[in-house]
Amino acid sequence: MKRPKTPEQRERLIQKLIASPPSRIRPERVRARKAKSARTYPSKWLRDIWREQHGNCFYCKLRMEYMTIDHKVPLSRGGKTERRNVVGACEPCNTAKGSLMPEDFDPAPVRAFRLGRINE
Ligand SMILES: [Zn+2]
Repeated sequence: MKRPKTPEQRERLIQKLIASPPSRIRPERVRARKAKSARTYPSKWLRDIWREQHGNCFYCKLRMEYMTIDHKVPLSRGGKTERRNVVGACEPCNTAKGSLMPEDFDPAPVRAFRLGRINE
């Protein structure tokens, strides 16, 4: 943007800035962020995963109260959202696994916790 020289140019610049306030940018940023976190998956994947795992968590093998989708190789480690990299996991396992690689995640404590809770 050129530096305004005359009062008229200055006024025009101010009008231009007013015409494009940050609020015009922010909603888009919010939408972009929401779209990323509220990731959706093809409903076929969800049905197939549920059926293949018989409604049980991929990690602790216990019944999923509701299914969350876990990336075996986490996105943060270069994993992709593709069918062979996603499994159904119970929420405690998904939370506990975080961004661990599948071989580094031990679901035993989650399983024990869930069994304990179920037996209560
Ligand atoms: Zn689990």
